[in-house]
Order: sequence, then C-alpha cells, then structure tokens
Amino acid sequence: MGDSSRWSGYLQSLPFLDLPTFWNSEPSARSNGIGPVLGSDPDNPLVLLRGSEVMKRLEKKDDAGRTLRDNVDDYYHKIVLRILRQSGIRRHLALEPSLAGFRQAYSLVSSRAFLLDAYHGLAMTPIADAFNHALENHVHIQTDFYVCPECGSLRECEHDSEGRDQTHDMEWKANDYDAYYEMVSNADIVPYEEVFNTYGEKLCNAELLVQFGFIIDPNDNDTVNFDINDILREAPLSQETYNKIPCLDDAELAPLLDSFTVSDLIFAQDPSNVEARFCINCDGKISHFLWIFLVRLLCQNMPLVGPSNSMCSDKLREMTTTQINMENMLQEGSVEDGDGQLDLPGSPVIPVLLAVAQAVVAMCGARKGGSGHPGYANRDLGDILDTIAVDRSRSRLSLSILMSEHSILDSCSFGWLDFVNAFNSSDGYNDGGISA
Ligand SMILES: [Zn+2]
Repeated sequence: MGDSSRWSGYLQSLPFLDLPTFWNSEPSARSNGIGPVLGSDPDNPLVLLRGSEVMKRLEKKDDAGRTLRDNVDDYYHKIVLRILRQSGIRRHLALEPSLAGFRQAYSLVSSRAFLLDAYHGLAMTPIADAFNHALENHVHIQTDFYVCPECGSLRECEHDSEGRDQTHDMEWKANDYDAYYEMVSNADIVPYEEVFNTYGEKLCNAELLVQFGFIIDPNDNDTVNFDINDILREAPLSQETYNKIPCLDDAELAPLLDSFTVSDLIFAQDPSNVEARFCINCDGKISHFLWIFLVRLLCQNMPLVGPSNSMCSDKLREMTTTQINMENMLQEGSVEDGDGQLDLPGSPVIPVLLAVAQAVVAMCGARKGGSGHPGYANRDLGDILDTIAVDRSRSRLSLSILMSEHSILDSCSFGWLDFVNAFNSSDGYNDGGISA
C-alpha cells in the first residue's frame, strides 16, 4: 500500500534486522534492496556457532522435521504468495513481493511484537516497541481498561457477564482515543539514563540472539545444556541397563534440594525450567537434575553400590551428603594437607561421586571441543574477536556467544577437576572402577 497505508510512517521507521535464523541464506537473498548489503562478513558466522546453544535453536525441528526457517519459507511460498497474487491485492502493492522481504517482515515481528492482551495477542505496537531490553526494566506496558478477550472491545459488549470485572464501562467516554495502553514506570529513573523495558526476565543470550538479534554481556540467564546423548557418551551404559533405571519424579527429589544451596559445584534447578534440566549455569555449576542423573547412571557400573535398579531416596540422600561433605573438606583444605583424616572412611559411594565428577569434566571437554570454528580450537577467542572489524556484527556476535559458553564450560570443568584430583590423590579412594 506504500504511502497510503495508515502505518506507513511506522513501517518506514523500522530498522533492518538481521536474525541468525536466516544467516545461511544465499548472499543474493540478503541484499535485495531490503536492507544494507551484508557481504562484509567474509566468514560464515554459522561455523563459529557450531555446537552452540544458538545453533541448537536454529537446528531445532518440529514434529514434521522442519526448522523455523523452513517453516517461514514454506509459509511464504504456500500462503503469502498465493494471497498476494490475487489480482485485487497485487495492484495495490508498492514493492514486488520477495522471500527476502518476507523474512525481513518476519524478523521485525519476531523482535518487536508484544503479547498485548487476550484479544490482540501478539501485536506490533508502535512507540511501545522502541525501548531496549534489560533484565531489570524501568517500564512496562499496561492498560486500566478491561479488554474483552472475544471481541477486543474496551466498552460494554455482548460478552460481558455478571461475574466479570467491568471497569471499562464506568471509565468509558464516547471518544475512541480514551482506549489506550500506557508505558508506566516500575522503577526509579535517573535523569539522562536510558529507559529499558524487558522482553522477558529469563531470556538467555541464545534466545535473545535468535528472537531479537542482539545479546547482553554478561547475561546471568546463560546456560550450557546437554541432552541425553551428550550424557550417555561420557557415562556409557547399555541400552538395556539404561532402560531399567526407573524415573524419579520431581517430588521425590524435592527434599534434597536444600542440600545443594551450599554446594560449589551443583545448583538446585527450577523444575519448571524443562528446557534446561541438564545444564551448567552461568556460575559453572551443574543442575541437580544432571548430577542425580549421572549418579544413577554410574551406580549401575559400581559393584559396591549397585547395580541397584531402584535407587531409593535414602541412597541418594547419602550420596548428596557425602558430596557436600567432600566439597567442604576441599574448601577447608583438609584434603590438600594430605593428613589422611578424611571423615568419610571407606564410604562405598565415593567412587561413584568421583566417576560423576570425571564424567562432568569429560562432558565439558567434549562440548567445548565440538563447538565453534574447528580451526580456532587452540586459539584465544578474545584475541580473534579483537581482530574482527566492528561492522562484521554476525561474526562478532557469534564469537561472543561462543566465548561465554566456553567460559562457563571452563569454570565448571576446573571445579570438578579440582574435586577429582583432591580425592583421587587420597589413598583408598582411587579404586573401585574409576579410570583416571
Ligand atoms: Zn466482547
């Protein structure tokens, strides 16, 4: 519709947005007059993202085996083009439709649309979408009016019923402009300070990059996640044995969670965070789900402890207590003294805990080695970042993401390696099936 659109000014004001979802598109599709030519990125930034949390999201497939990019492109070819080709619409178009244009439109909606209310759902919201993101925001959007979820009315409508809060008909004046949303502050704002909204308090950098095209550094929500296959590779078990391990539900683990608040190596993960069950958090601690899963896996190979197909909560409690005691000893230095005064004489669970620690170190190493540009394996990524021109934002973002993941993996790995070394060097605890 071009200039005749009511939203023309708003649409003209929108920036060009470069989401990684479309990074592996052909160069010709990226410089179709839609945005700036991005040919200044000579390397493929997707190689830098290999094996990263961002790449997991880009490669994630739905039940039909399609990625998000596949679905966006399919939608354009099957639905959008068909509608646009109807003659009644086509002659009003100011631009020839293109896949690149549609991807850009998708990117803008992905990065700017708000979940406004039950009726409008996800909506582009001029002005309100101008605020940048921070985890601790100054403002949020709200309305004092009751919005009918069925017809979107802010005044009395046929869907109103006795039991419903109907503030809108009291407040309503006949003027349409009385129906509004407001950006209201929820924190003190210092003069000349940038005013931030939040796009989500739990968003990690991988999510921010994929959905909005930027990252924040540091981001306390960052995690490195593992799936079952990553774990089984470092804690090998036959499929038959694995299948015999019964599931533990979250309620059975709940009494143990308090113990982990004092751990330097394990944190109690929020059970509602189903996407990040087996993860390392930004402090380099592994989730209690991952630790318990490893404990139960590795018990299967330990004749003194297992194989016990039903590991009851008593045994898990003993494991947890011993783990925390060992961490305390490590912190107090009573291990390094080599005085042999370990408070855990011959506990059969110690070999399991050491095997878990070694599995964690191995998982960190495998993940780090399998991520990023293979040619950068032994190089300092920070040095490489310093040599990348400022306008190569794709490579810079990719490398920054990778660096923070590597730093999480390093910090986790060092912690568990300390643990292994401290107790493996103490006589009596380095047998029982652990290979150093
Ligand atoms: Zn209604």
